[in-house]
Amino acid sequence: MVTKTNNYENLKLSHPCFGGHKNNKGRIHLPVSPGCNIQCKFCDRKINDDEQRPGVTSKVITPEEALGVIKRALELCPEITVVGIAGPGDTLATDNAIETFRLVKEHYPNLLKCMSTNGLLLYERADEIIEVGIDSLTVTVNAVDPEIEAKLNSAIVYHSKKYEGVEAAKILIENQIKGIEKVAKAGITVKVNSVLVPGINDNHIEEIAKIVSKAGASIYNIIPLIPQFELADIPAPTCAQIDAARTKAGEYIDVFRHCQRCRADAIGVPGESDFGDQIYQRRISLK
Ligand code: SF4
Ligand code: SF4
Repeated sequence: MVTKTNNYENLKLSHPCFGGHKNNKGRIHLPVSPGCNIQCKFCDRKINDDEQRPGVTSKVITPEEALGVIKRALELCPEITVVGIAGPGDTLATDNAIETFRLVKEHYPNLLKCMSTNGLLLYERADEIIEVGIDSLTVTVNAVDPEIEAKLNSAIVYHSKKYEGVEAAKILIENQIKGIEKVAKAGITVKVNSVLVPGINDNHIEEIAKIVSKAGASIYNIIPLIPQFELADIPAPTCAQIDAARTKAGEYIDVFRHCQRCRADAIGVPGESDFGDQIYQRRISLK
């Protein structure tokens, strides 16, 4: 068992996202994970220079290239305290993310390691996450009821087999919750993200908050749907709907209120600077 010193309280001081983007700390997202093992109905992964949202990157890089990107990013933005990997696909669907974190641990031991996953493989890969020393882990849990999850996710590929609908949702949810329990028990700070989809999971957020908090998550981030792909016809939630969901969830768990839905290759202090255009030679500056 690894004893972590970067607990939730410490991360509020050292990690921009846990500090409410008020501590003037920066993060670098390394887009090393191209593929995904589930199909969320709102996901539209793209390689481009100009969209400001998760799942978008200017390019996918290798773990070895990531070291050069970190070096350059620290020269441009010494406020960076966190190396995060959040896609553009799932971090556990390939070995790239864990391999990158191994290199970060060796070459930049003072940087915090932050990882996001859909959680399908979280339970079975938890030991690798613990061993590589992840400080904060985000798991996206959009429902804890398989009937609801099946409306948000059409299929998973699990151990080389494709599952669909409720059957897929049951496997995903079970692995997410067991995985959260396992990594939280090892001392890793767990944040849960849910995409708020009006008419599908908007009345279910309280239940998610209750269950993930019990499983050991410390903080909950409710992200408004960006209507696209199969859910393009569902309107994005209003501010009042987001607020209501956050207030209900707040009865069970600390709630995040400042997420900016960063790209998978964001670099800089959230809300203040983005050096990605210099590092990846984007055509359009996202500053
Ligand atoms: Fe922040 Fe999420 Fe990036 Fe981690 S993965 S640094 S929590 S935006
Ligand atoms: Fe897209 Fe992430 Fe869902 Fe995979 S887990 S389909 S990358 S939103």
